[in-house]
Amino acid sequence: MQRKYSEELFEQAKRYIPGGVNSPVRAFKSVGGNPVFIKRAKGAHLFDEDGNMYIDLINSWGPMILGHAYPPIIEAVYQASINSFSYGAPTRMEVEMAKLICDIVPSIEKVRMVNSGTEATMSAIRAARGYTNRNKIIKFAGCYHGHGDSFLVEAGSGALTFGTPNSAGVTEGTAKDTLSLPFNDINAVKQAVAQNKSQIAAIILEPIVGNMGCVPAEKEFLQALRQICTQEGIVLIFDEVMTGFRISLGGAQEYYGVIPDMTTLGKIIGGGLPVGAYGGKAEIMDCVAPVGKVYQAGTLSGNPIAMTAGYTTLRILADNPDLLNQLNKKASAIGEGIKNNLKKLGLNYQFNQVGSMFTLFFTNVPVTNLDTAMTSNTQLFARYFQYHLNNGVYLAPSQFEAMFVSYAISDEDIEKIIKVNYDALVHIHEVEHTQ
Ligand SMILES: *Cc1c(COP(=O)(O)O)cnc(C)c1O
Repeated sequence: MQRKYSEELFEQAKRYIPGGVNSPVRAFKSVGGNPVFIKRAKGAHLFDEDGNMYIDLINSWGPMILGHAYPPIIEAVYQASINSFSYGAPTRMEVEMAKLICDIVPSIEKVRMVNSGTEATMSAIRAARGYTNRNKIIKFAGCYHGHGDSFLVEAGSGALTFGTPNSAGVTEGTAKDTLSLPFNDINAVKQAVAQNKSQIAAIILEPIVGNMGCVPAEKEFLQALRQICTQEGIVLIFDEVMTGFRISLGGAQEYYGVIPDMTTLGKIIGGGLPVGAYGGKAEIMDCVAPVGKVYQAGTLSGNPIAMTAGYTTLRILADNPDLLNQLNKKASAIGEGIKNNLKKLGLNYQFNQVGSMFTLFFTNVPVTNLDTAMTSNTQLFARYFQYHLNNGVYLAPSQFEAMFVSYAISDEDIEKIIKVNYDALVHIHEVEHTQ
């Protein structure tokens, strides 16, 4: 497969953009080779600058759940855009959007729109700190909550010591207020909470992690977190930037039946345009300015074009309750096919899937947290990835990411994905043996 134009563009991009990309994972660093420059997409298919076609299993990391260039959304965005792009003043669409979100996610009584998932999580912990008058937060290793300083923190040397920055430019002062604990480990949470009595403002997590690959929380873990937060006056925040409107219309909280105090949203909520949101109990959200003392603002927040794209996407999902079921059926057909291939080839790699999110981990160890995810053979993954790319299937370019299926995917696409998966598994081991 020729990718001459992508290569040329990447050379130019590297001169003017750090690493040639506007978000690091796009640079293909962990899988090798050059990134593919996309020109357009339709339904479940991406087309690159050289005219190659790929079945898309990223879908912009989730937002394109209905498939690319979906006509009703294009039409709605066009109609909104002829009225002007932005006013910096309230609009009807913001009210409709807020009502729809509160309707779909009952734990959200009030919601504030922002422009990204990063902004949503940053603002949510600020609100939780303002509400509780406490400073510290607990997060979990392997969960990603955007690039806010408070989240770019890893566990200190002892599991229960304060966090240390895992990005240059994050101060130790900020990192010390974040405790990073192992995912799915309730005893670690109990100990950390006991050692920091009345100091923890919030516990934040992805209830189904997408960002270390797909790793679901155990239901008992979530239930125990709920109990601890209620007892200790800690704000429980579900970061549903990936899972919201996907795992179930009401998100992972509906799927598990565990209800957080606050929820952060992003990705699907903008239908492909830059939107995030944070919301929750009215009592907490009323701490936010202009009602309360927690400051948070945005020139383009609630932007009419972005709201229209997001609202139309959510409306379609809400008005067609069977759509997510059908999407899950398509995704589980892919999952069954991959598991079948593994079986046929006598391989014991771990396949994690919840609904339309999944990851094949190149390890024989069940993956339940970051440590077990890290046992994966990333070199095998890199070859697996390249094989897919060269055979027209666009996977997430890292072992530690989830794939996202869109509703636009056809039976023919699914068949092809399963076949390429089989061939890729054969191919990467052949290469292994000849080395
Ligand atoms: C993508 C993501 C974010 C960050 O959202 P951006 O829009 O990239 O800033 C936060 N949390 C989770 C769970 C995400 O998947």
